[in-house]
Amino acid sequence: MPVLDEVLAHNAGFVEERTKPFGRSPAKKIAIFTCMDTRLVDFLEPAMGVKRGDAKIIKNAGTTVIDPRGGVIRSLVVAVHALGCEEIFVIGHLDCGMGQIDEKKLERKMRASGVSQRAITELQPSLSEWLGTFKDVYGNLRRVTKIIRQNPLIPKSVPVHGLMFDPATGKLEVVVRGAKRGR
Ligand SMILES: [Zn+2]
Repeated sequence: MPVLDEVLAHNAGFVEERTKPFGRSPAKKIAIFTCMDTRLVDFLEPAMGVKRGDAKIIKNAGTTVIDPRGGVIRSLVVAVHALGCEEIFVIGHLDCGMGQIDEKKLERKMRASGVSQRAITELQPSLSEWLGTFKDVYGNLRRVTKIIRQNPLIPKSVPVHGLMFDPATGKLEVVVRGAKRGR
């Protein structure tokens, strides 16, 4: 087939896919909470078979929950109670940058770029705890999965899974298999 025709055939499929009516509610009824790591962009989704319209995706630095009423929980509450998500996937990844942050070095960089010492000191309970840095990606994943599972705003009928993703190979490993729990 001439290349032009290949392109046009691909484009017809692309347009058809794009113009499928997408609702606000995710087709697979899942919410994914993961890291903002650049290697996960357009890689974690195909690795999971998740396409446009399939899932709510929440990201932050390190797949971390610091505040039990903060942005991550708020988004999950909306995903579950307003948008029909019936399952939550917490996905950490190997070689996460938040496991390798040198707080002293970061603080020096913040100071050098004009951030006041006072603004840094006011971060509670400390810069590192506020950042949510960790030493062990598996430990962080288990901790965060548990925090979400035990959050009183998340219904017991919603399984919360904890998975580890390898950004080099695309392999997913189940670390915590969630289940529906009784009320
Ligand atoms: Zn990361």
